[in-house]
Order: sequence, then C-alpha cells, then structure tokens
Amino acid sequence: MNIKNYINGQNENPINNEWIDNYCPANGEVYGKIPNSSKADVENAYNAAKSAFPVWSQTTFEARSRILIKISELLEANLQRFAEAESKDNGKPISLAKTVDIPRAASNFRFFGNAITQFASESHESVGQEAMNYTLRQPIGVVGCISPWNLPLYLFTWKIAPAIAAGNCVVAKPSEVTPMTAYLLGNICNEAGLPKGVLNIVHGLGTTTGQAIVEHPGIKAISFTGGTETGAHIAKVAVPMFKKLSLELGGKNPNIIFADCDYESMLETTIRSSFSNQGQICLCGSRVFVEASIYDRFKIDFIAKVKQLKVGHPSEESTNIGALVSKTHLEKVLNYIDIAKNENGIVLCGGNKVIIKDFENGYYLEPTVIEVLTNECQINQEEVFGPVVTIMPFNSEDHVLQMANKVKYGLSATLWTNDLKRTMRMSSQIQAGIIWVNTWMMRDLRTPFGGVKASGIGREGGFEALRFFTEAKNVCIKY
Ligand code: NDP
Repeated sequence: MNIKNYINGQNENPINNEWIDNYCPANGEVYGKIPNSSKADVENAYNAAKSAFPVWSQTTFEARSRILIKISELLEANLQRFAEAESKDNGKPISLAKTVDIPRAASNFRFFGNAITQFASESHESVGQEAMNYTLRQPIGVVGCISPWNLPLYLFTWKIAPAIAAGNCVVAKPSEVTPMTAYLLGNICNEAGLPKGVLNIVHGLGTTTGQAIVEHPGIKAISFTGGTETGAHIAKVAVPMFKKLSLELGGKNPNIIFADCDYESMLETTIRSSFSNQGQICLCGSRVFVEASIYDRFKIDFIAKVKQLKVGHPSEESTNIGALVSKTHLEKVLNYIDIAKNENGIVLCGGNKVIIKDFENGYYLEPTVIEVLTNECQINQEEVFGPVVTIMPFNSEDHVLQMANKVKYGLSATLWTNDLKRTMRMSSQIQAGIIWVNTWMMRDLRTPFGGVKASGIGREGGFEALRFFTEAKNVCIKY
C-alpha cells in the first residue's frame, strides 16, 4: 500500500515520484511505499498552511474546540483499525496500541480541544501610573512538528493538537519508519471538518523532508521529539533563524529502589518501566539502582519475572514484547549488549535475538538484564532505547543521588520509597524534568512534560504547550 502526503486536505503523491520502502518489523518484509518528499512538497505544504492561517486563526475557539473533539471521537470510533496499523508499522504489541497509543492520541485531541476553551492570558494594572497592561497570546502562524517512531501517533498528535487548537497551521512529519497512522489521520481530519490546509503531513527522510521543514524561512516554530543528536542539529539550523524551539530528546533515566518500598508494586511496575514498548520509550527506567540490603532478593525476583515475558508476534494478544522497530535499530541494541559484555557487565538474562516460527526475519530480541559494576560504563551512560536494563546496588542516598545525576541526560526518574522526607530531598535534587514516586508513566496531560540537560529544552503538556504555540504580546494602555 502506498502512503501519500496530506496537503491542503488532499492525499498527494510526492512531486518527484520517489518512494521509500516501508517495512513490517514483525516479519522484516516490505509492505508498502512512503513518499520520499522533497523541498518542493514541503513548499506546497507550507503554501497550503499559509493560505489557511488567516481564516483558521480567526476561527472562534468554540469552533476549533468542536473540530478537535470530533477528531478525538473519530479516532476512538476507529480504535481497532488504527491500533492494527500502528502495531504492524511499529512492531509493538496490539494490546499496547489498543490500550495506550491510540486512546492517548484521541485524548490528545480531546484534551487540547477542551484546554483551548480555558486558555487565558494575564493582565497587569500599573497602579500609580494609570495604565493597564494586558497580554495577547496570538497564534504564531505556520509551525513545524516533527516526531519519532516509538509512539508514532501518540507523539505526533501531542504536538499537532495544541498547535492547531491555538490557531496555528501545521506542516508535520512523522518518522519515516512509522508513517502509517499519520497517513490515516488525514482522512479523519477531513471527516471531522478540519479546514483544508490547517494540517499538512509530509512524509520522507529526516535529513531531506525534516531538514526542509526546519530550514523553511516561513515556518516560525519547530516542535521536535527525537534523538539528542538530531535535536542539536535542528537547534543549529533553527536558532540563527530565530525560530521558537521545543526539543524533547533522549533519556537515560534512573529507577531508584529503596528497601522500604512496597516491594510487589515496585517489582511489577519495574517490569513495565524497563520493557514496555520493547524498552523504546524515552521515559523507560533503563538504569535500575537497588539498595544493597534488598539487592540479591530483587535480582532473583526480577529475573524470574523477566523470564516470564512473552516475546511474540505483535498481533497476538498474549505478546508482551513485540518486534523492535527496524533491523538497524535491532543491530544497534545488540551492539550495546556486546559493549556491556566487553565492559565486564554480566548478562543475567536475555541478550539474544529471538527467532519466531513463520516470522524468522522479524526484529525480535529477548528482554535483557545486565548487572554492571559501575555507573560510569558506556551502557549506563548512553541511551540504548531497547529492551535492555542494567542493575546495580547502592549503599546510601548520597551514593545513588550522585549516580543518578552523573549522566548527560535529565528526562525523568523513578523513586521507590515510603519515606516522605527522602522523597522530598531526592525529588528536589535529581536533575530531571519529571519525577515519579512509587509509580511510573502516570500521566496527567495538564502537567509540564520535558527534560533538562541533553534531554531537551522547553516543556510540553497543558498550558505549557499552548504557550509554546502562541506569541505573547503585551499591550499597555494609559488611561
Ligand atoms: P530521530 O532523532 O532519529 O528522529 C526523530 C524525527 O526527526 C524523525 O521524524 C526523523 O525522521 C526526523 N529527523 C531526522 N533528522 C532530521 C533533520 N536533520 N531535520 C529534521 N528532522 C529530522 O529519533 P528517533 O526517531 O530514532 O526516535 C528515538 C529518539 O527519540 C530517542 O532518542 C528517544 O529518547 C527520543 N524520544 C524522546 C521523547 C521525549 O519526549 N523526550 C519521547 C520519545 C522519543 P526520520 O525518521 O525519517 O529519520
């Protein structure tokens, strides 16, 4: 099946008629083609967005809200179709696509459809000067949204929904590795009555299509989620052009387990925070630090549970771990396991490819636990982004805090403890944008989301996203 670009409300072939193969990770076979869009396609998308902007930006917030909520309802009505498409394109278990990815994409539209009705701006009375200031928050114009492959529709819509809710028009690019649900979204937007040109989706390679979006002088803001290196490259291009930038980048998140935690709940959640989505979530707790007094017990129980996880075809409801997203990515993850072994890491379980009958060329890997001797090793310092976690013991709060922070990233951290004072101390000192205590990946869409250090700049979520997608303008009136 050939995917098309969605420009000005129409499904379009790429102008150069060049195509890229789309692979199914579950069996390693090509199952469709994706436009290899050029600058000319981005230009068309930009022109459509620019033409739609004057009307869309003046459309009442009620009307915008209604359309976003309609998109959300249509996504819910098409849950099964979208979940199957996401699972096939990405390799993730269908159960995950059905319960997390697609419901969350629908929630993104519903949430921002509602949020825009509550978005307000400030006023400041300059007492003693007989003046009143008020702040206008105006849509920026045409904005660019670029998203990765791990949570395809979930992260794509997390950007698009606030952008259009705030009155912008969008040129968006999903990852070339997982374009399918973004393609299907175009038709849903038409059905929901989104005016032509408000959302334009251009498929293609990051280095050409993505680059053309970032370089386009008329696209005034870029919201990007992806790898840290790509984020740095985008910043180099966009900053001298004075574009507004939101960068949600990689993570190497600590999962810190104290002996006083609720052990069973910790164990169950640590399985999820280590291996959900084949460990391909920027928030996964890939460095597990366990207080020395419970380390041996944890090691035995954790490994026993990991061994129960079923690696299988993504379409089977009983599958816990599906296929990794691509052959290149599988090789990258396997290479990290070799690096860990060379650094004297001990593979406690997993570490090998899995061959599944009838799907021998799929990209399957055992969930892997590696015991490391030090936090300084490469496997603890670099983002693997696969079903691989390291574990090591710690002796004191200071010790673990120092290890948690000794990494270039700062996206999230998880703490397992029932000690309130320790929770408060650690939460304020861990260098990360998001801290979970006795839970993981519990999301309230009103909260600020984003990282520090090499995990990015800016915050998404709630009004933060609406603030990003608007320009604040102060008006001062003397009376
Ligand atoms: P990449 O950085 O490779 O790609 C992200 C997106 O950027 C893709 O659409 C890609 O296109 C595009 N792109 C690549 N090069 C350029 C360029 N020069 N200009 C413009 N766009 C470009 O990341 P991955 O897709 O590999 O995603 C995994 C990464 O994303 C991990 O590091 C992960 O931690 C991070 N991530 C961060 C999250 C967060 O919220 N902080 C959430 C989820 C993931 P193409 O795919 O076609 O190359």
